[in-house]
Amino acid sequence: MDKDELRKIILQERKNIEDKENKDAYICQKIISSIHFMNSKTIAFYMAKDGEADIITATIEAWKSGKTVVLPKIINNELNFVLYQQGDTLLRGKFNILEPKENIIVPPGDIDLFIIPGLAFDEKYHRLGYGKGYYDRYLKNVNAYKIGVCYKKFLFKEIPYNQNDVLMDEILTE
Ligand code: ADP
Ligand code: MG
Repeated sequence: MDKDELRKIILQERKNIEDKENKDAYICQKIISSIHFMNSKTIAFYMAKDGEADIITATIEAWKSGKTVVLPKIINNELNFVLYQQGDTLLRGKFNILEPKENIIVPPGDIDLFIIPGLAFDEKYHRLGYGKGYYDRYLKNVNAYKIGVCYKKFLFKEIPYNQNDVLMDEILTE
């Protein structure tokens, strides 16, 4: 199976995740109790779309713990991470993803932990994204700890990958 075939199947399957609220709550609990969460000052989260695990509870917990939260935003067709403070306005961007309205870019070297959505991951830490390679280009020179998040059924033994695919350090599921 190639990447595109797998993407189609997963997009379809993600429309009906059983018991989604409980799975999301469990995923958030695991994020919050992670040593990497505790030890990080600045954390990149994401705003869920299309059946991705919703990690807003963990995002709010980061604020409560005094951490700096950044979110992905496409600016000039490149992925950036911008500051997201409580009360900030979010607007739907290029891929219908909620992004902070303001462009307060936080450089990659200032981000301690990346929590990264994906369509699928595998046990060798590969990630299947939506097919545009934004995270691969952004992360190629980033050494910060990277946690890929997906529901358990989308964590496979092996998925198709190539040399541009940046490896995660950990895959977190419910
Ligand atoms: P995704 O990671 O979103 O699932 P792919 O891994 O299939 O998407 O990559 C999508 C496109 O982006 C591919 O054509 C790939 O060659 C390109 N790409 C990914 N990383 C880089 C990179 N570091 N430099 C140049 N092109 C890249
Ligand atoms: Mg890739």
